[in-house]
Amino acid sequence: MIARSDALQALATEPFDVVVIGGGITGAGVALDAASRGYSVALVERDDFASGTSSRSSKLVHGGLRYLQQFDIGLVREALQERQLLVKLAPQLVRPLPIVVPAFGGARLDRLVGVGLNLYDVMSLGPRRGLRGRLGRRPTDAADGAEARQGETWSPERHRVIGGEEVCEYLPALAARAPTAGYLFYDCQTDDVRLVLSVLGEAERFGAICANDVCVEELLLEDGRAAGVRARERVSGEALIVRAEHVVNATGVWADRLRPQELHDEAEVPQIRPSRGSHIILSNERLLLRAGAIVPAGGGRTIFALPWLGRALIGTTDNDYHGELEHVRPPAEDVDYLLDAVNAFFATSLGREDVAGAFAGVRPLISPGDARTSVDISRKAELYETSSGMITITGGKLTTWRRMAQMTVDRIVERDSLDAPCRTQEIQIGQQVSPEQLERVAGVAPEAYPALAARYGSRADAVLRIAGERAELAKPILDGFPDLLAEVVHAARSEQARGIGDVLLRRTRLGLLAARELSAEGSPALKRVAAAVGRELGWNLRRRRAELARFHDEALAEGIVVEGLPAGAGAS
Ligand SMILES: Cc1cc2nc3c(=O)[nH]c(=O)nc-3n(C[C@H](O)[C@H](O)[C@H](O)COP(=O)(O)OP(=O)(O)OC[C@H]3O[C@@H](n4cnc5c(N)ncnc54)[C@H](O)[C@@H]3O)c2cc1C
Repeated sequence: MIARSDALQALATEPFDVVVIGGGITGAGVALDAASRGYSVALVERDDFASGTSSRSSKLVHGGLRYLQQFDIGLVREALQERQLLVKLAPQLVRPLPIVVPAFGGARLDRLVGVGLNLYDVMSLGPRRGLRGRLGRRPTDAADGAEARQGETWSPERHRVIGGEEVCEYLPALAARAPTAGYLFYDCQTDDVRLVLSVLGEAERFGAICANDVCVEELLLEDGRAAGVRARERVSGEALIVRAEHVVNATGVWADRLRPQELHDEAEVPQIRPSRGSHIILSNERLLLRAGAIVPAGGGRTIFALPWLGRALIGTTDNDYHGELEHVRPPAEDVDYLLDAVNAFFATSLGREDVAGAFAGVRPLISPGDARTSVDISRKAELYETSSGMITITGGKLTTWRRMAQMTVDRIVERDSLDAPCRTQEIQIGQQVSPEQLERVAGVAPEAYPALAARYGSRADAVLRIAGERAELAKPILDGFPDLLAEVVHAARSEQARGIGDVLLRRTRLGLLAARELSAEGSPALKRVAAAVGRELGWNLRRRRAELARFHDEALAEGIVVEGLPAGAGAS
């Protein structure tokens, strides 16, 4: 990414066509879409890029099988089509993930799930291919399984029935329960933060200027019309005016905090109803998964158990939330709810002490103004245009960012009476590279190369060049994980990371995967990270100590270490 100081200089001096407020997936998508249609674009993020909801998702790029139950067919179809596209545009980052729905004791597989999966398959293929390609040659699920085993190319688009043994191959953690069959289907998985950073990287390639730690305080108004934003650069505390013809509010769950009257009175924007979702992370020794599983969680609800970055990611809860939005912790009852579901399903007896890390986020749901619970509120995106000219885009899902961006920029293009169609359906997000293509660097362990290729694509070369600078940078940050200390330096040099939380929570994800080790007082790995970031950012010893304390504060406020939760923390 462009150096932050250069970005700030440009933001203060250049007029832009579009200023985007918010550096989550929605803002990043709008920046890319607008820049690729030829607009000059500025994007400002109050904290760190993706520090809001976009780092706290279940990491699925999916249609959402569950939304079929709610007959939200349009949303599922759209999301499935986006899934198909993203797996092509960002194959290194959006990867097919097998998911299993098992049955036990010789019980028949749930026919309703089978019907849902058939529909899911058909919708993901689009209208024409879907009907001809699927329905004509699928007499039974069992036949489907046999057909697939006979060597037909397996694709993420189609589900099949598998036997108990195969279920255990996919879900070794389930072996004790001796499953007898299962549905196997595919969705896709990503690293949400890396997706945001990659989209921002592409936006910059088209000339967008992006900066974090810049908080918008109000709109700059000229004759009642938005002509940019008044912001504060949070490091220096200095005021910053960014001038632009169009202002896009992509602040997610904070969307109705910018000009609330205007939004509520004019656009009749219903309240944004935050809904909290918590996740926990377990080590492979506790729960070994090679595929995802849909896990019943009582009361007709289900959660996911997903393999992610060498660990098991369990979530999510879905409850109305009324607490503060700056730091959303997973409360003890959410952790226990997730552990109970896991224990009942996998016949384990895991406790809070087994949780390697945890996090919670808040969905920006648009309340329909009735008494529906958050589980039942649609994940549809909404666009509002108010009298100042500000365009607000919120709701939606990580999966549908590209459509949300298109909807927003289409409106701007229409306003400007231009003929500038959306191009993002053909813009690669980063560049895929195979691990074998990466140059070998002395001291870098073999398992680091696939991890680097998946995270950075061809930009992994830049990280490896850094790994070659000093022997310590070629080593893993933490034993047992592939992430290199060089990545921390890369994040500070080239990804606007400014603190330890940025590099551990939102560049690598080690702060979540190994929250206990990294948050422990005096953790040697944490000290190494602080020294490496500090060296890049010119921290003296005092500053380094202060930054370590800041990370401990952030870890506590975010509740990433479950044991560290004070009683009743995060209760809404
Ligand atoms: C628990 C959970 C699980 C989920 N799982 C999935 C999933 O598996 N798949 C899926 O598709 N979707 C999922 N979602 C939904 C998805 O994560 C969100 O829809 C998406 O991340 C929202 O992105 P956003 O950019 O709109 O909001 P955010 O990511 O919150 O971005 C808004 C940004 O605006 C910034 N901001 C706020 N105010 C200002 C200001 N005044 N000035 C400057 N910047 C400001 C914030 O700091 C923030 O970074 C999940 C959501 C949750 C909560």
